[in-house]
Amino acid sequence: MSKGKILVMVGAPGAGKGTQAKRLEKEFGIPQISTGDILRAMAKEDSPLGRQLHEIQSAGKLVSDEILFEVVRKRTAEPDCVGGYILDGYPRTLAQAEQLDRIAEEQGRKLLVLSIEVSDELLLQRLTGRRICCNCGAIFNVYLSPPVADGVCDFCGGSLVQRDDDKVEVIERRIQEYYENTAPLISRYSEAGLLYRIDGSKDPAAVFEELSKYVTA
Ligand SMILES: [Zn+2]
Repeated sequence: MSKGKILVMVGAPGAGKGTQAKRLEKEFGIPQISTGDILRAMAKEDSPLGRQLHEIQSAGKLVSDEILFEVVRKRTAEPDCVGGYILDGYPRTLAQAEQLDRIAEEQGRKLLVLSIEVSDELLLQRLTGRRICCNCGAIFNVYLSPPVADGVCDFCGGSLVQRDDDKVEVIERRIQEYYENTAPLISRYSEAGLLYRIDGSKDPAAVFEELSKYVTA
């Protein structure tokens, strides 16, 4: 098994990317590197970069591509990444993708871009159908896994509510933004022959099985 790859996972909100990344991390022992988490942690460090990050974040500004490049490069050079790693939230732009190529070249690793694809209709059902029990936190989906009685939790009888973030206007905007931001990256990696499309409409276990084939190939 070639475990030294850099896995880049892409997928619209609701495609199941986060769940699958966690499972890959667990099954294959390759860490999931989230740039958001690293930046938040580094901003607390008492180092030149830590202080710089703290300043940028306090001002509500975006971290530059150059800083992000250094952060990813430094984090992925750590011992736990020797067997490969999963990138989450990076790259987001073509400039960042070019920087990632440099990191891959320096580290002598291959890139594998896994795109989990789900129809817009199913994404909308998965996200806008979600209802949460305000008493016990159980999650239902009015389209895909409805409660026995409308608006009532099967487990505790509590009432089911929809989060504001799950409202159709919000979800449609997030999906739209995802396509706009990701389309150039998808074309780039597709042209480079590095992109693998996975049918994310299947159940999570089947999606994981397909992903695993690419990871272990
Ligand atoms: Zn409940």
